[in-house]
Amino acid sequence: MKTIIEPFKIKSVEPLRFTSHKERKAILEKAGYNLFNIHADDVLIDLLTDSGTSAMSAKQWGGMIEGDEAYAGSKSFYRLEQTVKGLTGFRHIIPTHQGRAAEKILFNIMGGRGKIVPNNTHFDTTRANIEISGAEALDLPVAEGLDPSLKKNFKGNMDLAALEALLQKESPQRIPLVMLTVTNNSNAGQPVSMENIRQTSKLCRSYGIPFFLDACRFAENAYFIKLREPGYQNTSIRDIAQEMFSYADGCTMSGKKDGLVNMGGFLALNDDQLAQKARNILVVTEGFPTYGGLAGHDLEAFAYGLDEVLQEDYLRYRIRSVSYLGEKLDALGVPIFHPPGGHAIYLDASAFLPHIPAHEYPGQALACEIYLAGGIRSCEIGSVMFGKTDPASGDFQPAKLEMVRLAIPRRVYTQSHIDYVVECIGHVFQKRVQLKGMRIVYEPPVLRHFTALFEPLKK
Ligand SMILES: *Cc1c(COP(=O)(O)O)cnc(C)c1O
Repeated sequence: MKTIIEPFKIKSVEPLRFTSHKERKAILEKAGYNLFNIHADDVLIDLLTDSGTSAMSAKQWGGMIEGDEAYAGSKSFYRLEQTVKGLTGFRHIIPTHQGRAAEKILFNIMGGRGKIVPNNTHFDTTRANIEISGAEALDLPVAEGLDPSLKKNFKGNMDLAALEALLQKESPQRIPLVMLTVTNNSNAGQPVSMENIRQTSKLCRSYGIPFFLDACRFAENAYFIKLREPGYQNTSIRDIAQEMFSYADGCTMSGKKDGLVNMGGFLALNDDQLAQKARNILVVTEGFPTYGGLAGHDLEAFAYGLDEVLQEDYLRYRIRSVSYLGEKLDALGVPIFHPPGGHAIYLDASAFLPHIPAHEYPGQALACEIYLAGGIRSCEIGSVMFGKTDPASGDFQPAKLEMVRLAIPRRVYTQSHIDYVVECIGHVFQKRVQLKGMRIVYEPPVLRHFTALFEPLKK
């Protein structure tokens, strides 16, 4: 059979609320044309993020009842610890309430002024935690990763030549660790090859520098390796994931992605001294080392999620359902970032709206129009998020790419929901020449995309 179906049936449903075009127009206006300001109730299909939005399985919900809420020595912690150790091989598993809490602890210990932390591309919370420590967060993506139309297999890779040049130039003391984000979330969810992980690790080892994975989407990355990298077609996903982790000295993880839970994360590492320091901070900021900011029932659901995410029928459906959306949009001529990534489709807003310049925020205009057309919430990833306007001179510095992300929550929407999304975006594409740019009428000093207010331009 060629049809790939959702490998689950639905036991509990959550009704959607439909709104009219007229209602959505008023909602947008009231929200200052910022989709973060819209109540989730007023959204029909929510593709804002894939983080913490997964549907849990009956087994996970059952596990929630079994969760052991003991302050110390909870059996749910030992279940999670055993699962993570089996998967990653790391000696120390430190639970945190989400990924950024693991980052905060790691960079509190390893960051600091004068240091540089390279990554294929830092996720924004990773960058923020490194910068808060006083260190520099350096992105070293491969050049082909920045070309939206190029169809290549592993556009999430680290630029190894650039990394080697950096390691040669700087003294090893300045580089406390090297990170690799799998999949490369900030670069359109593109995967990293096993060869790239292996070579990054080898390079780090030759300079005696610890190597960490940002493992948020390790299972999606492992599936891409199985699909695309020679030699892995007959290897199980668990074996591929174990090999990925085997090259690293530790990892940070947000369970809100490939943990298939609504909340959770961990820091895992091999170094005994570092682990002791991490646990000392954990007790002060998150909680005792056997719960680390999570309820026992969260630990339990997380342990089940990490097993379920490795199931091949799940990953086949997951990766296929994202590429299905990409292929349908591509067939309509809608410009997307190629090839489809693991968790989202990124619309290329500059190619979609070539008449709207970067300083008039084509991604924001497009995201608002998609909401207006069908109640679909997406996320601008362009000059609103990464561009800068100098408050004194008014000089505008655009982002590298103007994109709109359609992130797909795990196990939440069916194929007909996705068909509806395609129809709606196709409709917007038909009338794209009529769309107008946007102007920022209020912006906060940092992370402006969350709270900025906009106004549509008249011409
Ligand atoms: C989501 C994410 C994080 C942060 O995790 P939170 O659970 O949201 O704190 C870090 N890195 C990557 C790549 C992510 O996608």
